[in-house]
Amino acid sequence: MTSKHLSDTSFNTLALVEPVARGIAEMGFEKCTPIQASTLPLALAGEDVAGQAQTGTGKTAAFLVAVFNRLLKEPASAQRRARDPRALILAPTRELAVQIHKDAEAIGQFTGINLGLAYGGKDYEKQRQILEDGVDVLIATPGRMIDYFKQRVFSLDAIEVLVIDEADRMFDLGFIKDIRYLMRRLPPAERRMSLLFSATLSHRVLELAYEHMNEPELVRIEPGKVTADRIRQVIYFPSNHEKIPLLVALLQQMDPSRTMVFVNTKRAAEVVQGYLVANGIDAAAISGDVPQKKRERMLAEFQSGKLPVLIGTDVASRGLHIDNVSHVFNFDLPQNIEDYVHRIGRTARAGAEGDAISFGCEEYVFALPEIESFVGYKIPTAAIEPGMLPRLQRPPPRPRKKRPSGPAGGRGGRPRRRSRNSG
Ligand code: AMP
Repeated sequence: MTSKHLSDTSFNTLALVEPVARGIAEMGFEKCTPIQASTLPLALAGEDVAGQAQTGTGKTAAFLVAVFNRLLKEPASAQRRARDPRALILAPTRELAVQIHKDAEAIGQFTGINLGLAYGGKDYEKQRQILEDGVDVLIATPGRMIDYFKQRVFSLDAIEVLVIDEADRMFDLGFIKDIRYLMRRLPPAERRMSLLFSATLSHRVLELAYEHMNEPELVRIEPGKVTADRIRQVIYFPSNHEKIPLLVALLQQMDPSRTMVFVNTKRAAEVVQGYLVANGIDAAAISGDVPQKKRERMLAEFQSGKLPVLIGTDVASRGLHIDNVSHVFNFDLPQNIEDYVHRIGRTARAGAEGDAISFGCEEYVFALPEIESFVGYKIPTAAIEPGMLPRLQRPPPRPRKKRPSGPAGGRGGRPRRRSRNSG
C-alpha cells in the first residue's frame, strides 16, 4: 500500500497492547488505511461498528487488530470452558476465511492467541480436532460452523467479539438464515462487541446491523471514493456480436497477465473461454462447479502469472483473494452496483494501479446509469476503431456430457479438448 492511500493516523497513536503493536510493526504497517483510521478508534473503545469497506482497503487488519486488542485487554469470562471460542469471525467463502486466518496468524504472531478455522469442502476431521482442543478466535464460514456447533464441538456462550465480514455477500450467497441462526445463539448484543464490514451498507445490511448489533456506529466512505481513483475506468459500447472480437482485440493489444474477465452467466464464461483459447489466449473459466482442487490450482497458476486470464461470474469468484490483478473486464456489465464495486476493486488493490474496462452491450447496458450514479461520475467512453475487430477462429465444438455408462466411462479415443474449464 503506497503512502498516498494511507491516512495520517499512525498505529502507534492508538495505544494498542504491546503484542498487537509488535505484530503490526512486523507487517510493516505504520499508518492506518482510511477504513482503519475511522473504525479502529471506535472498536478499540468497545463500540459496535458497521463499516463500508471492500477488499483491498485494509479492513481485515482493522477488525483483527480490534479483536486481538480486546481479547488481550479483557479477561475471558470466568464461566468459559476451554473449548469455547472468545471471538467469532464469519466470512462468506472459504477463500476469504483462509485469507483472514493467514492475516490473523501474521498480525497475531506475538499474542499467543489460538486461532481456529472452519470452512466447508475439506478437512472435516482435522478442523474439528483443532476446535475440540479449544481456540480463542474461530474464523469460519457459516455452514461448517453451524455443523460443528450443532454437534456441540464448542458453545457460543463465551463469545465476546463477533465479526461479520462481507455482509452483503452473506445475503447474495444465501447465508443470511445461517447468520441469524448464529446471532440468536450468541450472548446478547450488549454483552459482546460486534463489527460488520460490507462493500455497501445497503438497506438489508443495515437492517441486519440494527437488529443484531448494539447501536452500531456507521462508517461510510463517500460513493466516489468507493471505486478508488487509482482505477482507470473506461467503457466501450459493442453490439452483442462485437463483444468477443473486441475482448480478443484488447487482450492482444496488451500484456494480459493477471486479467480477470467478468461475465454474468456460466454459459458466457464457457463461450468466452472457448474463443480466447481458440485465438491463442490462454484462459480458464472458474465456475462454481469446478472442483475445489482444480479451482485452487487455477488460482495458483493465475497468481503466479502462469495463467494470464481468468474468466468468472460474480458467484464463482466471490471471496477469492487475488492480488495485483492488472485488468478487470466487465464483459457483461453487472446487474447490481455491489458487483461492480467488488469486481473493479480487484484491480488496484493495496494501492496499486489498475484498469477496469467495461462493455455496455445491448443486453446489459441498462445497468449503466445506476452504476454511474453510484460511483458519482460518468465513466469515460472509448470508441471501437474501424479495423480494430479481428476475424476470429471458432472454438472446436464442446464434447457432449458423458452419460454414466460402463465402469470405464473413459475417453473412448476422443481427443482431449484443450480447454481448462471443467464447467
Ligand atoms: P484487505 O482489504 O484486508 O484485503 O487488505 C489489503 C492489503 O492491504 C493487504 O495486503 C494488507 O496486508 C494491506 N494493508 C492493510 N493495512 C495496511 C496498512 N495500514 N499499511 C499498509 N498495508 C496495509
